[in-house]
Amino acid sequence: MSFQSLGLSDALLKAISKKGYKTPSPIQEKAIPPVLEGRDVLASAQTGTGKTAGFTLPLLHYLSENPKAKFRPIRALILTPTRELAAQVHESVKDYSEFLDIRSTVIFGGVNQKPQAATIRRGVDILVATPGRLLDLHNQNLLSLNRVEVFVLDEADRMLDMGFLRDIERVMKLMPEKRQNLMFSATFSKDIRKLANGILNNPVQVEATPENTTVEAISQKVYRVAKGLKTGLIIKLIIDGNWKQVLVFTRTKHGANKLCKKMISSGITAAAIHGNKSQGARTKALSGFKNGSVKVLVATDIAARGLDIPLLPHVVNFELPNISEDYVHRIGRTGRAGANGQAISLVSADETTFLRDIEKLIGQKIDVEVLEGFEPDPNASTEPIKPGQNRQNRNSGSRNSNNSGGNRNNRSKSNNSRRRNDRRN
Ligand code: AMP
Repeated sequence: MSFQSLGLSDALLKAISKKGYKTPSPIQEKAIPPVLEGRDVLASAQTGTGKTAGFTLPLLHYLSENPKAKFRPIRALILTPTRELAAQVHESVKDYSEFLDIRSTVIFGGVNQKPQAATIRRGVDILVATPGRLLDLHNQNLLSLNRVEVFVLDEADRMLDMGFLRDIERVMKLMPEKRQNLMFSATFSKDIRKLANGILNNPVQVEATPENTTVEAISQKVYRVAKGLKTGLIIKLIIDGNWKQVLVFTRTKHGANKLCKKMISSGITAAAIHGNKSQGARTKALSGFKNGSVKVLVATDIAARGLDIPLLPHVVNFELPNISEDYVHRIGRTGRAGANGQAISLVSADETTFLRDIEKLIGQKIDVEVLEGFEPDPNASTEPIKPGQNRQNRNSGSRNSNNSGGNRNNRSKSNNSRRRNDRRN
């Protein structure tokens, strides 16, 4: 299939070709037609599938083919869970609308609101926003959502993870009832289905390639190792393997900082990215990582979510995630754009249950290796890490900074709720 056959306007085709895209990705093939028809869409797609263009292209087509008021009220709202994702989605909107008379902007917390409010006052067709800042500006009468025609909820599962359910409900009340709704989520829990029922009208359901297919393309390995030897092991792997670009996941912000310091003192350029870092520090870390001046990016799950880092050769789970689906999200970053990647997990005795859960989810056993000098501790307990452990700085985020949410109760029904207490990192 070609982009032409999807019926997108010439201005959009020009922008697509400028980006170098040859054919639509599966999610684009499936999502673009129903969105163009004006249908509500529920899409199962994670970062890396091309989902952003999947909703942005038809959205831009609709807005530009149906021009409205000259004063440019906000006609489309794209809600994302994190600042990074908001910024990336807005970059895509700008790229794809280059040859259209469409104005857009992005708003998120942690930075001065004045320039954001001023841009909105001058009129924008598309607003990309995180929930906290959106509601803040609305409460100050600095923006209105009463002319929104299309509402996009991106990474809905992360929205719930981060406790944004109440905020989403608040935002919904500010928009006209008659509108088109598009919801994207990587996973489909009961909570997500419930949210979808409340938002979408008779939606078309579309799905990108199942997650398991992605997982199969990635070479995965587990190193069984004593907890206290993990830092030494990861440093050895990076140095011996001469790895150039490594994304390392830790469970907590504190753990990310600690590991990052150790790497730096071993002569490896590293930066940490998590919710306690300022916007400037995060942007700097990310751009250093992308341009190669930073070899290792140490991240927590929420901070890493949605980061667009193409062609990642190595992902290391310094600690296994306590939610199995996060493992799939993490390692999915190595399998992008057809490039094969390597995902390595350092697993200590207390993570044995997490490993078993992950293997059950992905339906395969992961090869295990033990490196001489970095053996597991035969006397260590296999008792899983308890909720509440590794939970430094629990209350350090603020809603406006979009790292944490007010309401965490929406997850209580989930099977994994016992393990989710430390997710705000
Ligand atoms: P996303 O899943 O939206 O974060 O997109 C992941 C990456 O794929 C981004 O770097 C996009 O620029 C790129 N991309 C999106 N659509 C296509 C396409 N049809 N062909 C090639 N690359 C694409």
